[in-house]
Amino acid sequence: MTNLQKILPIFLIFLNISLFAQTDFSKYQHKHIFCKPWIGNNAFLERYLSDIHYDNDSTPMYAVPVQIWAYGGENLPTDLEIKRLIISLNTLFTANNTKIVFYLSGVEKFQKKRFQKFGYFSNAPIQSHLHHKRGVVNIMLAGWLAKPGKKNRNLAFTGCYNHFSNTIATIPSGSPSVAVHEMGHYLGLHHTHRYYHRGKHRQESVDTTVFRRGLFARGRNVEINGDGLADTYAQPYLRRVTDSHCNYVDNEGVTDRWGNRYAPQTDNIMSYTQNKECRSQFTRMQKSVMLYTLENKRHSDRWRIEFSGEKNGFASLPDGYEPDFSPRAATALPLGSRQHHSFHSPLDGKGRQLNDEDWFEFSSDHVIKHIHQRKIVIEPGLMEFSGIRAVLYNQDLQPIDTFNINTKDEIIELDISDFKDGKYFIKVEQLNDNRTTIPSDYFISLLAVDLPKNLPPVIEYKGELEVLD
Ligand SMILES: [Zn+2]
Repeated sequence: MTNLQKILPIFLIFLNISLFAQTDFSKYQHKHIFCKPWIGNNAFLERYLSDIHYDNDSTPMYAVPVQIWAYGGENLPTDLEIKRLIISLNTLFTANNTKIVFYLSGVEKFQKKRFQKFGYFSNAPIQSHLHHKRGVVNIMLAGWLAKPGKKNRNLAFTGCYNHFSNTIATIPSGSPSVAVHEMGHYLGLHHTHRYYHRGKHRQESVDTTVFRRGLFARGRNVEINGDGLADTYAQPYLRRVTDSHCNYVDNEGVTDRWGNRYAPQTDNIMSYTQNKECRSQFTRMQKSVMLYTLENKRHSDRWRIEFSGEKNGFASLPDGYEPDFSPRAATALPLGSRQHHSFHSPLDGKGRQLNDEDWFEFSSDHVIKHIHQRKIVIEPGLMEFSGIRAVLYNQDLQPIDTFNINTKDEIIELDISDFKDGKYFIKVEQLNDNRTTIPSDYFISLLAVDLPKNLPPVIEYKGELEVLD
């Protein structure tokens, strides 16, 4: 098992929502745009965590919309690959209790022969200029992210972050930690080996007591040099000095400029370990930097999950099955399952609310059919009710039937015992005339009718993330 798989049994389910205490964010907002107040003073980051009540509970503070721009030829990224990317982000950000969750706000695909080998230095700058949205994190997902030069067209970057266009670029076949690493850059983090090849003036020292008295910065070297964070230990470029099992292999006795041998963390997400599956951790200071940076992003007010006390007293988070935005990204509904889903409140790039759609897939299997009569049940959930519409499709995506739930005590019961063998889809969405998404929820089950009357226990998301390479 890889490290990543070990930490997987996670996931936020919206039942965990608690009302988020009011926090005085404005005190920090837009105050330090040009300087990083923690450089030479990491105590700032600890104070910040305390001020935003970081340790009070594990309730997410931000739900950040992600726009995917997919490029490729025959290798155009699929909906399933887009789904995996969002799940990778949420898996590691949640496991590290960053209090940040991500959801898919939109997808646009561009399939062209010339995008088969999408050039990071040729196609990407033009495309990121043509296609990006405000108010969301823009991610370019290309089937192949070619390095520059004719010789290098067959070499791919797994992920890059462009500081100027604020765009992340990545490929679907990289390790799940790649997108998380790039998101770390977007949220203000540097590499943990930053400036390791520089002199004493920039390099982070192994000895944490080394003091620096510079013209502009004064304090502990580990809080000024390198990535400026004391709890990410000094480290060299790890790719050459780690093995595939995440061990530090220091055969050559690599030392810093002060002559001390390194003893680095080999699991940090912002490092360059040889095996990218080793990267599973953000340190406490890194989390503080990310939350601080996020608070200072231009659109973060819209992304914050806050108790408003008004009409829609709470915000709903994307449930652990998201994103299930299309038939190709549908959630499987196995026999005997009862799942709990939410209609969260996705935003587009202009801050407008989108309608949340959940897609499900189930199969009618002749062998099992003769054992049990079967039905699909959709019931309103526990939160404020706002109407549910379910549309049933055959495997060619032809709509077969539409069902509505108009009041809280109705349910949909759909007998599928006589359905022909094959695959079917269901799209569940909110019935809303005024186009406002009220965070609400529902249960969906695929049941054998002649089983005992008691409903099976609710199956929450298990976080089974397939590792691609
Ligand atoms: Zn990087």
